[in-house]
Amino acid sequence: MPGEPVLIRGSVTDISERQRYQREIERLAFSDELTGLPNRRLMLDRLQHAMDREQRENTLGALLFIDLDHFKTVNDSLGHLVGDGLLREVTTRLASGLRAEDTLARMGGDEFVVLLEGLDSNPQLAAEAAAITAEKLLKSLVGTCWIDGHELSISASIGIALHPFGSQVAADVLKQADTAMYRAKQGGRNALHFFAPEMQAAIDQRLQMQSELRQAVQRNQLYLVFQPQLALATERIAGAEVLLRWVHPERGEVMPGDFILLAEETGLIEELGAWVLEQACAALARWLPQWPQLVLAVNLSPRELRQRGCVARISECLQRHQVPATALELEITEGVLLEDVEQCISNMQELKVLGVRFAIDDFGTGYSSLTYLKRLPLDRLKIDRSFTWDMDGEDGSGLMLVQTILVIARNLGLECVAEGIETQWQLDSLREHGCSLGQGYHFSRPLREADFQAWMQQHQL
Ligand code: C2E
Ligand code: CA
Ligand code: CA
Repeated sequence: MPGEPVLIRGSVTDISERQRYQREIERLAFSDELTGLPNRRLMLDRLQHAMDREQRENTLGALLFIDLDHFKTVNDSLGHLVGDGLLREVTTRLASGLRAEDTLARMGGDEFVVLLEGLDSNPQLAAEAAAITAEKLLKSLVGTCWIDGHELSISASIGIALHPFGSQVAADVLKQADTAMYRAKQGGRNALHFFAPEMQAAIDQRLQMQSELRQAVQRNQLYLVFQPQLALATERIAGAEVLLRWVHPERGEVMPGDFILLAEETGLIEELGAWVLEQACAALARWLPQWPQLVLAVNLSPRELRQRGCVARISECLQRHQVPATALELEITEGVLLEDVEQCISNMQELKVLGVRFAIDDFGTGYSSLTYLKRLPLDRLKIDRSFTWDMDGEDGSGLMLVQTILVIARNLGLECVAEGIETQWQLDSLREHGCSLGQGYHFSRPLREADFQAWMQQHQL
């Protein structure tokens, strides 16, 4: 019948119009008109969901409360249009420092909130992860921006509360983060502050260490020590492992165990590693004329090996010091297999072609599968010191473990270096089971350059 289609068409239009209207209402109800970000209501809703899930999964997240410094001055003196422009710019900058799974919301005015979910089950580690993101956000805001012909500089203060931590209610967590933000402002702006005092103390210490470590290179507080590696059969020196030391102005000598991890997490390791390599190559250039067989083993963190310019940086350093690549061994850990594996392997292969050697460090303490290990162009496998120390255990299981590692190495065609040899017995049994190289206090502790040189005189290559 001729009338019907018209009727149908009419009702379809009706429904879609209602849907559009519905969506518009939702949009207005849940998002911020100026920036398009989720608003306070939607954020609280997501926070509550996140907290319920975290409760079930026994993990912690963080809420970052961000408030711009001196925004009111901009708004009052330059007008709302400029203020709005600034808020949009801030939105873009903050978003650029976040991962896709993080939620950025605008609470109103110059207040923003970031929801980080499921960071870690350990409060300390969750707090550290939150602090790293917060620092990144503060950094993303630094630098002037032009709004409507006005040059403006931005900074912000960030308050952080962990969730669910103390309270199961989203609004409480928001309030905690807000309170912490006020403390950050009182502390001098462009800063971050934790709601929980114990978190803050830990983070303060970490931040301080980080800035001290950043200065350590310039202030000449770093030096290298060299631990001899010997051929077990002849007890002659074959080379040395290069280890980093830091003389802190107040705390004295700090061991790498206390700062390498921090350096890795903050990216400082790239600078430290470059310094270590530079010094190691300079030492090789001095020593090779007299000891041409000398090989120095330098620890390379996974982060350094993943770096794009890694191969160029290392080969440039070798060339500048006129040191053959074969005199350099790089010790890597199974950590390289956790991320960007392909990039790591391709960097390793390129370095291998140059003649650089590779040892896998701390073997057996990580989770790497042998299939993966087989893909790495390795020359040596280092038996972790914990295995060396367990060798003389009553039940013989420690000894068996070391024997197994030696068999694996043989099957992979790798030479073995045992770490942490402290006793004659350990030395004898390692030798007996076919381990070719070793290092440890039984031979020598890591030595300063002059002492190491004297040591080499006595122990012939
Ligand atoms: P690692 O590579 O497993 O280094 C061996 C550690 O065992 C060194 O500790 C060394 O001093 C110690 N050691 C050697 N023989 C013995 C022994 O017989 N008994 C005992 N008790 N210890 C022994 P160190 O120098 O404190 O270094 C700790 C870790 O820090 C290293 O473990 C390495 O992972 C890292 N590290 C050190 N220097 C650097 C560096 O320049 N770059 C990077 N990325 N990491 C470094
Ligand atoms: Ca090592
Ligand atoms: Ca080791």
